[in-house]
Amino acid sequence: MSSEKVRTTVSVIKADIGSVSGHVVVHPDTIAAATRVLAEAKAKGIIVDFYVTNAGDDLELIMTHRKGVDSPEVHEVAWNAFKEASRIAKDLGLYAAGQDLLSEAFSGNVRGLGPGVAEMEFYERPSEPIAVFMADKTEPGAFNLPIFKVFADPFNTAGLVIDPKLHPGFKFEIYDVFEGKSVIMSAPEEMYDILAIIGTPARYIVRRVYRKVDDEIAAVVSVERLSLIAGRYVGKDDPVAVVRAQAGFPAMGEILEAFAFPHLVAGWMRGSHHGPLMPVPQRYAKCTRFDGPPRIVGLGFQVKNSKLIGPVDLFDDPAFDETRRMAQVVADYMRRHGPFMPHRLGPEEMEYTTLPEVLEKLKDRFFKVEGAVKAAKPKVKSELLSDESKE
Ligand SMILES: [Mg+2]
Repeated sequence: MSSEKVRTTVSVIKADIGSVSGHVVVHPDTIAAATRVLAEAKAKGIIVDFYVTNAGDDLELIMTHRKGVDSPEVHEVAWNAFKEASRIAKDLGLYAAGQDLLSEAFSGNVRGLGPGVAEMEFYERPSEPIAVFMADKTEPGAFNLPIFKVFADPFNTAGLVIDPKLHPGFKFEIYDVFEGKSVIMSAPEEMYDILAIIGTPARYIVRRVYRKVDDEIAAVVSVERLSLIAGRYVGKDDPVAVVRAQAGFPAMGEILEAFAFPHLVAGWMRGSHHGPLMPVPQRYAKCTRFDGPPRIVGLGFQVKNSKLIGPVDLFDDPAFDETRRMAQVVADYMRRHGPFMPHRLGPEEMEYTTLPEVLEKLKDRFFKVEGAVKAAKPKVKSELLSDESKE
């Protein structure tokens, strides 16, 4: 078995199915319920191994198997685990029990039903280190900045300059959540164009990263945005990601280095505020201050013959204390803006809140101001060009 080339799939599937004392932390009984379902699936040979955990109020299923990405069997196992955990959550009267399960019936794939999914399939290297990242109180675009740094910024990842396998660069699949379309772009050549797009993280999300020399999968991020699926605010789309490390990929330390800057992300209270993303050990993945600030947990594993060896709690290191301290300072600074932007998200992100209702209520009370100029609709470049050609 050890000499056999093993094609393994790592599936990280998460959902918020209810938590204790508000949106704070998953209850151990719901973890136990999900564990029972996954243990049964392991006994039946559907999955090879698993690790059930939580990041704040999100229940996280980390699974390995041989059934490939988007396997209906594996997705059904995850769905059943969430259903079972949800049932316990309802029995215990947990807050927002069943929140992320938007459908009653499973239809072959959990995508579009509420849970977030990050899956990748690969031939195992002799040693296969991976990092699983799980964030709470933020959205998938929160990974844009750190993932870009890991795979395209030589000031973060020394290997881009000095490792022959990394030197040619990486390809980014960037997903437009509004259109449901992806584009593949290449770094370093298209770096500025990539940044022009992914700097809008609410819309364009780095979904997958491939090593350019051989198209090997390097990273995958969940892209599900609940409110866009449900058409109303249901909670934040706390994302997960899987990243391969070492031997032809960035070193684990280069991957973690990208999280040493607590950049501002959307999420926090009611999913409607910007705040710093704070890397924490798992015991601190518990968002209490104004339901935040947003957290990220990293667990490191080795994958061997599709088994999970580990985990290591990657941010449980005093080397990240200063990052956390800076996050606290930024959290204070942002909080003092109260309901003002840019602490509160912009109007395009507030569509699923009371904001449109407030505007609707005031519709007839707005009156015309004498001599005021109504702003012209901005023209796109192609319109401007056609205007010029008319002259
Ligand atoms: Mg959450």
